[in-house]
Amino acid sequence: MIAENLNKIKNSLPPNVTLVAVSKTKPIEMIMEAYEAGQKDFGENYVQELVDKHEQLPQDIRWHFIGHLQSNKVKHIVPFVYLIHGVDSVKLLQEINKQALKNGKTVNCLLQMYIAQEETKFGFSFEECEAFLKSELFSQLKNIKILGFMAMASNTYDESQIRKEFLSLKEFAISSKFLGLDTQILSYGMSSDYKIAIEEGSTMIRIGSSIFGERNYKLF
Ligand SMILES: *Cc1c(COP(=O)(O)O)cnc(C)c1O
Repeated sequence: MIAENLNKIKNSLPPNVTLVAVSKTKPIEMIMEAYEAGQKDFGENYVQELVDKHEQLPQDIRWHFIGHLQSNKVKHIVPFVYLIHGVDSVKLLQEINKQALKNGKTVNCLLQMYIAQEETKFGFSFEECEAFLKSELFSQLKNIKILGFMAMASNTYDESQIRKEFLSLKEFAISSKFLGLDTQILSYGMSSDYKIAIEEGSTMIRIGSSIFGERNYKLF
């Protein structure tokens, strides 16, 4: 069933869109099923769970951290993470830079942007982001590479609202090119809204329940 779900989604994607299979709370066996069907990009939300899975699963998996990352946990994922999606503060970016330097590497990051009309979502506003990208501080962070932006739309059935939010980020990304950023990745779209996301410029979708079935909730 997992392979079938995966292939159905994959076959519907334009060639420039990468599928990240969101495997949070899912067991190793289910991830292996997706891996054996050819999936290499997986997304996780919790640091300890990601570390455990990284140890147990094939080493050529590209692990995406998509959750809310706390500064004191950055060191656990920096040695192996492929892309950190949800970077939502300058402080966090400084910590990632510090740990990357310690590990002698450059860490790929996406800045999480606040596009939703909800109070609960994390992220930079467009104004904050622009100010940061122009700052002296940003130019000093040599061990991080900002590859683009990540966002979540409002949790609503109003398609036009979702579309508008995604489009606002696409337009911001285009304008950010003038700030000297090489934004190749726009990470938005989940099971419920990825088709709209792709129509509005997403190049990386993060899909969990449409591949692995309903979410399991787990307390940490
Ligand atoms: C869980 C999660 C997803 C996947 O959500 P589904 O609705 O299961 O596809 C995508 N992005 C983030 C940040 C998530 O936490």
